[in-house]
Amino acid sequence: MEQEIVWPPLRDVLARYDLKARKALGQHFLCDMNLTRRIVACAGDLSGCTVFEVGPGPGGLTRALLESKAERVVVIEKDERFFPALQEVEAMVPGRMQLIGGDALTLDLEALAPPPRVVVANLPYNVGTELLVGWLKKIDAFRSLTLMFQAEVVDRLVAAPSSKAYGRLSVLTQFCAVPQRVMELPASVFVPPPKVASAVVRLVPRPDRPPDIPIRVLETVTAHAFGQRRKMLRSSLKPLGGEALLAQAGIDPTARAETLSLAQFEALARLVARQ
Ligand code: SAM
Repeated sequence: MEQEIVWPPLRDVLARYDLKARKALGQHFLCDMNLTRRIVACAGDLSGCTVFEVGPGPGGLTRALLESKAERVVVIEKDERFFPALQEVEAMVPGRMQLIGGDALTLDLEALAPPPRVVVANLPYNVGTELLVGWLKKIDAFRSLTLMFQAEVVDRLVAAPSSKAYGRLSVLTQFCAVPQRVMELPASVFVPPPKVASAVVRLVPRPDRPPDIPIRVLETVTAHAFGQRRKMLRSSLKPLGGEALLAQAGIDPTARAETLSLAQFEALARLVARQ
């Protein structure tokens, strides 16, 4: 249901409710509706979907989501100073928006709405990766996740082996999902501008994810392997079987974690899962 709505301008909303950004909550606002509409376009077709937005703040991205074909937009905000401004938006779109006040880290999105579910959010920096890892573990509950992070976090999500950004988060992300970097945003477009640039990544469930590898085992293997990044795998993986495990997986025991492909981590996790 596309609606022609004249939204109260975001900068007026910030001034009217005296909404100054709080650093502790990772608050940097996007007030340019051209940009928020571009982010929503990156999320793809939202027809019939329940969209979850974590951290709507004054509601710039929320407005753009409400202009999309999404069936319902559920926003989760921890900072109650934003509730009156968000309730103002809610009243303009009866039945299409739901505001949940609280900490997104404590909420199970799957329990809040039936599928199809998507997440579209400009995540708070301090809890962004923790939220992402929680959603990755339940990735089949979502059609897609379109998320804004600091650009260096997106570097890590999409990184290939032997690159500087490749690490545990790259392996866990690419095991669960197919991540695609879809947009870059300079720091200057935010109010207030953060110190670093941001980027948007779109993740969809990986269709060929091996069903015989529990993610918790891959978490254990990557925690050991990358926990001592500079060490050879025969040493860092000693608690899981060391040289014998690596020989079984056909991996050079003197290799280091950052050179291993996703398929090699999967081979190790498959063996550890059978132990
Ligand atoms: N979406 C808005 C925008 O793009 O202008 C604001 C994004 S700002 C980077 C992050 C938002 O997340 C803030 O509104 C902050 O209050 C909220 N937030 C921080 N931690 C949160 C948490 N644990 N649960 C829910 N919201 C949170």
